[in-house]
Amino acid sequence: MDYLAGLNPQQRAAVENTQGPAMIVAGAGSGKTRVITYRVAHLIEKGVDPFNILVLTFTNKASKDMRERIMKVIGAEAKNIWMGTFHSVFAKILRVEAEKIGYPSSFTIYDTDDSKSLIRAILREMQLDDKLYNANFVYNRISSAKNNLVSHIEYQENAEIQAEDISNKRPLIGAIYETYTKRCFKSGAMDFDDLLFKTNVLLKNHPDVLNKYQQKFKYLMVDEYQDTNFSQYTIVKKLAAAYQNICVVGDDAQSIYAFRGANIQNILNFERDYPDLKVYKLEQNYRSTQNIVEVANSIIANNKNQLEKNVFSDNESGDRIRVQRAFTDNEEGKIVAEAIIQERSSKGYNYNDFAILYRTNAQSRAMEEGLRKLNVPYKIYGGLSFYQRKEIKDLIAYFRLTFNPSDEEAIKRVINYPKRGLGDTTVEKLLVAADEHNTTMWEVVCNPQQYIAGRIANQLNDFAMMIKSFTVEAKKLDAYEAALYIAQHSGILKELHSDMTDEGRGRHENIQELLNGIKEFGEREDIEDRSLEVFMQDIALLTNDDKSNDKNVDTVSLMTIHSSKGLEFKNVFVVGLEENLFPSQMSLNSRSDLEEERRLFYVAVTRAEKKLTLTYSTSRYRWGTLTNCEPSRFIEEINPRYLEIEVPKAAKPVTGDDSFSSERRSWTQQRDSFSKPKPASSTTTTGTSTASRPKTSVLPKAHVPTPGFAPDAANLFQNGMEVEHEKFGFGKIVSLEGSLPDIKATVFFQGLGNKQLLLKFAKLRIV
Ligand code: ATP
Ligand code: MG
Repeated sequence: MDYLAGLNPQQRAAVENTQGPAMIVAGAGSGKTRVITYRVAHLIEKGVDPFNILVLTFTNKASKDMRERIMKVIGAEAKNIWMGTFHSVFAKILRVEAEKIGYPSSFTIYDTDDSKSLIRAILREMQLDDKLYNANFVYNRISSAKNNLVSHIEYQENAEIQAEDISNKRPLIGAIYETYTKRCFKSGAMDFDDLLFKTNVLLKNHPDVLNKYQQKFKYLMVDEYQDTNFSQYTIVKKLAAAYQNICVVGDDAQSIYAFRGANIQNILNFERDYPDLKVYKLEQNYRSTQNIVEVANSIIANNKNQLEKNVFSDNESGDRIRVQRAFTDNEEGKIVAEAIIQERSSKGYNYNDFAILYRTNAQSRAMEEGLRKLNVPYKIYGGLSFYQRKEIKDLIAYFRLTFNPSDEEAIKRVINYPKRGLGDTTVEKLLVAADEHNTTMWEVVCNPQQYIAGRIANQLNDFAMMIKSFTVEAKKLDAYEAALYIAQHSGILKELHSDMTDEGRGRHENIQELLNGIKEFGEREDIEDRSLEVFMQDIALLTNDDKSNDKNVDTVSLMTIHSSKGLEFKNVFVVGLEENLFPSQMSLNSRSDLEEERRLFYVAVTRAEKKLTLTYSTSRYRWGTLTNCEPSRFIEEINPRYLEIEVPKAAKPVTGDDSFSSERRSWTQQRDSFSKPKPASSTTTTGTSTASRPKTSVLPKAHVPTPGFAPDAANLFQNGMEVEHEKFGFGKIVSLEGSLPDIKATVFFQGLGNKQLLLKFAKLRIV
């Protein structure tokens, strides 16, 4: 068949072997995603019903692109494949099954803002210090628990977790987690992590449901498998259990979400989970020039914790990697913009062929300024989503209430917007009453006379009547008419219309844009149910990039490295290669965090097809002050043979082995010796955060039921090794006893004597 001709023998074998478990762990640009794409096409060609195929991708955009490619091979049938991110696919399944776990099928999805707002409300109610119990910290802790399948009950019953919270002086996180869970439930709301957590609950407690989806998804494929967390791993494992037709692809060197709970161990465990596993190796990189591939190899070689892989390229050797210095971040923006203009005209590229990648969102400002000054069109990916804008969220909150009036965060958001005399005091009263009578806020709003004293009953009645009328109208009207009705009758349109400032006009236009989007949705022919309720369902999962249809627009792409995963561009600029920025300051205290930063650098570098430029600035405004910066250690780690270093204007660029300027030597010498990988030590995955850093990945894996799922770092500790403990300080391992996952270490701490620690919980760092 035609499409098989576009595959090398290993890829072809992986595509044609459709039965049984398969894993492809291979380097960047080696065609992993291509294999999944063609494998799906091949399955359908062989007669598999597209409805029986589930493909899990990392972004909505990735699944959209994949579906389009498959469509080119097999035609319209591709529409029927189940394909999307974990969150979107399982949200869809939960809509169907929600009632089995006590949720309405019209449950709301709380986005991160909603979750944190609820946490802040709970902190206020519990009268906790919100500096100590920082909402982000609490949110991350709860998120981490859910992603490790630790319920609030297990959280509070687990002595080790409790001990950790007590030693962090935050003993009440478990109690907050409990209230948070109950409040979400009462509101008929699930947060992002719940979409996976509750799917696990559903599949665990309802064997009939599990069986139904096992039968449905006879073929499963997962792209970017290295970035799945335990909760996702468990879902996949359960669904694949009946037929075992599961194919995962990934690259351990590109695992960049450990901070969100991704566990590289999932790759390593795959072999253990499926003894019949077929492993395919892809070694040829088709994306990049030889120089780029060599540079990527030399970067990742600095990481200790790595599966061995050979990656080579048969493409041209290509240009050297250019390293450019700027004196300020604005100059850096200017240099990049000028280089884009120059390359575009001399080599005939489009703007689309260029990407600027950065470590932190804040860096986009200087880049934007540079591009704007030279009239270079650009688009920022992954920025604030259209749906996150205040006015859009306000109107959507009314939509949410229309279909799920129990939604507490939505009530709080719009009960007094536009103003109707129901201020913060009323909201407090409603919350207290709901809590005292163990009922929902909506129930109190509907029957104020029964629950609260005061003269606000009329306003509350009006509000309740309004929402009820929306629910009734939404059933009768099509999506657009219903949305317009709500926008008008809620008073939002009038409120924005009367705001004559530029900002106000912009907001009004945004609402119009949302309404236009709903109109388009209502006219779609490829879906049966085109109601506002369906439009609304997964809106919280949409990102900026999903909305735009930017195929025909020729713009430079700007994005963080995290959002660039899986993508490729002819010309890539990785900017801000400075110590404390990339690698980030927070990563410098632990080897595992530093290795994650290095993997991020590997991801950035491997996005480039033809040309890669690295830039750094010697000064930069950070947190409002001008700071001096040193070039990143990552530049130093690259074999200079591949580099072309631009030196200050007067001098000529130098290349080759002896290309390092004395300036570069001096900063490398100054650097803290920690940056050099130490041959004897290894990465620890048990978490090594400093006290001030909220981390999501450190929650003990105590509840992970799979045997052998203990942190692999337990293997790496040895007698005599020097370690650091968050609370006890520096110490030395005296002895180790027991076996995985319960290895116990006796550690001698100065001034404290011997302490016995269970390795899987003790956050020991190898020093
Ligand atoms: P990443 O790790 O970055 O996600 P990947 O392994 O998924 O990369 P792909 O994106 O599938 O790699 O492929 C990289 C590029 O190489 C794509 O442009 C793809 O079309 C091309 N490619 C892959 N295999 C072949 C092949 N056999 N012949 C020609 N081009 C190929
Ligand atoms: Mg890929």
